[in-house]
Amino acid sequence: MSHSICKNIKQIEQEIGNTQLVVVSKYRSLPELQEVYDCGHRHYGENRVQELTTKYENLPKDIHWHLIGHLQSNKVKYIAPFVYLIHSIDSLKLLKEVDKEARKHQRVISFLFQMHIAQEETKFGLSKTELDEILLDPEYINLTHVACKGLMGMASNTEDIDQVKKEFEYLNSVYTELKDKHHYDTLSMGMSGDYLTAIAEGSNLIRVGSKIFSV
Ligand SMILES: *Cc1c(COP(=O)(O)O)cnc(C)c1O
Repeated sequence: MSHSICKNIKQIEQEIGNTQLVVVSKYRSLPELQEVYDCGHRHYGENRVQELTTKYENLPKDIHWHLIGHLQSNKVKYIAPFVYLIHSIDSLKLLKEVDKEARKHQRVISFLFQMHIAQEETKFGLSKTELDEILLDPEYINLTHVACKGLMGMASNTEDIDQVKKEFEYLNSVYTELKDKHHYDTLSMGMSGDYLTAIAEGSNLIRVGSKIFSV
């Protein structure tokens, strides 16, 4: 049983070739996360700041921690010293806070803009119009302690593969339009249920949780 987590990771890694795998470790225990570590994996994704910082404090320091969930401005300070990549930037106000905290720690924090691509109202993220506005804003252009690496999105939670495919295709088209000009290299899309579709539509980073831990 304790070998299954590692086996699941290896299996997915074989399937996805050069695509970056972020193991989504939210709600999972420290022993489970240690197992991921012992398997040789170093990229972890968490969606809550409190849980992320507790796990950071209790696990080896060479883990790359990805924040994949919604981030509130008043929580940025807790992750600023160590976070590897923030996937969920959805406003200039939030990004300015990240920049401010990164400066305090003399770091440049990498991030992705989270785009709203799903049909559901509830999912966070920017529209293309909102993204364009930020990219043109002098306040954005003048930030010095944050570095945008690309885009992240979550598809609709539906069995309709064609719908999911369309949403990923759309996000990839936005990414493709921007990536050369802005030197982006990361398109974060795909989870347990849809990562193969996401990769087929251009993703180069997938965030997988339940498929690895539900053994
Ligand atoms: C939970 C979560 C995932 C992983 O979902 P699974 O279906 O368990 O693979 C990926 N991305 C985000 C933003 C999440 O919150």
